[in-house]
Amino acid sequence: MKVTEYLKNTDKTHFSFEILPPLKGQSLTNLLEGITPLMEFNPPFIDVTYHREEYMYKKHANGLLEKISTRKRPGTVGICAAIMNKFKVDAVPHLLCGGFSKEETENALIDLYFIGVENVLALRGDAPKLEPNFVANKDGHQFASELVAQITGMNQGKYLHDETEIGFQTDFCIGVAGYPEKHFEAPSLNFDLKKLKAKIDAGATYIVTQMFFDNQKYFDFVEKVRAAGINVPIIPGLKPITTLSQMVNLPKMFFLDLPDDLMVELEKCKNNADVKEVGIEWAIQQSKELVKYGVPTLHYYTMSKADTTYKVAKEVF
Ligand SMILES: Cc1cc2nc3c(=O)[nH]c(=O)nc-3n(C[C@H](O)[C@H](O)[C@H](O)COP(=O)(O)OP(=O)(O)OC[C@H]3O[C@@H](n4cnc5c(N)ncnc54)[C@H](O)[C@@H]3O)c2cc1C
Repeated sequence: MKVTEYLKNTDKTHFSFEILPPLKGQSLTNLLEGITPLMEFNPPFIDVTYHREEYMYKKHANGLLEKISTRKRPGTVGICAAIMNKFKVDAVPHLLCGGFSKEETENALIDLYFIGVENVLALRGDAPKLEPNFVANKDGHQFASELVAQITGMNQGKYLHDETEIGFQTDFCIGVAGYPEKHFEAPSLNFDLKKLKAKIDAGATYIVTQMFFDNQKYFDFVEKVRAAGINVPIIPGLKPITTLSQMVNLPKMFFLDLPDDLMVELEKCKNNADVKEVGIEWAIQQSKELVKYGVPTLHYYTMSKADTTYKVAKEVF
């Protein structure tokens, strides 16, 4: 079923979450066992992230460095199939512009549709580590809006290189990313909102937000998105903070602020166990306020730490 249908068919807030594929060389068993307790909260869908190639340098005996391309977390499509099979829950794969030509995107979408995937989250992705800026692949997309347009085209039966023939129509429900605290490359929030509107105009029917720790940022964002003429559901993304290092890393990696009230509590923490307690309590309070506000689903970034999400969900759902 489509994400938007789940969100329409109920007046209560759903529970949903995102997982990361395991590192290359690790089995899927731990991940699937780890998320099994979360099924208690009846998630209608589970997102599976996509990880593009990264570059590393291998030093040879003669001193020369060889640039190697590798994907640390492959397996997104396989995990989607495993989730649908094991839990009978819809899987939402993330699909990137980065690392894909349009042809590879088309083939990936055909595979996904044939295994029964009905939803995709269409994203641009970032530059590989060690590279300063995002550059589209040869014959790939520069912005997520172009990827959305390609998927919409397939929903209308349009395939690459088949100018005249109308082929089999897929029926993907397309989600896109939104940034309550602005995407880091956008010169202003209004500019970013115009680009968000372009993704909706290209055929996306729901938005999932970047994580935020101050609900007011989400409420303000929703108001501005609506003022920009966008009327699709806006799913808030939440992440309980769990380690001391995340106080520095989350703002650095995701370009967001941690609110002062949260920082006061975090600064009292002596170790990760203390941080986890504060993070869980903060996420519970955030979640309860968002439920009251009437959000369609609370979407948790588990970062493969399902136990933390479980403790939050137990108090909210
Ligand atoms: C919910 C969520 C899930 C994510 N999942 C993944 C994942 O699985 N794997 C992964 O690698 N990354 C993931 N990301 C990260 C994402 O790929 C990055 O944030 C990336 O930098 C931007 O992706 P986007 O789809 O928002 O890009 P876009 O919507 O293309 O926007 C990127 C930037 O370009 C600007 N822009 C857009 N269109 C134009 C235009 N026509 N002209 C000029 N500027 C323009 C925008 O304002 C923005 O600053 C996720 C992010 C979120 C919020």
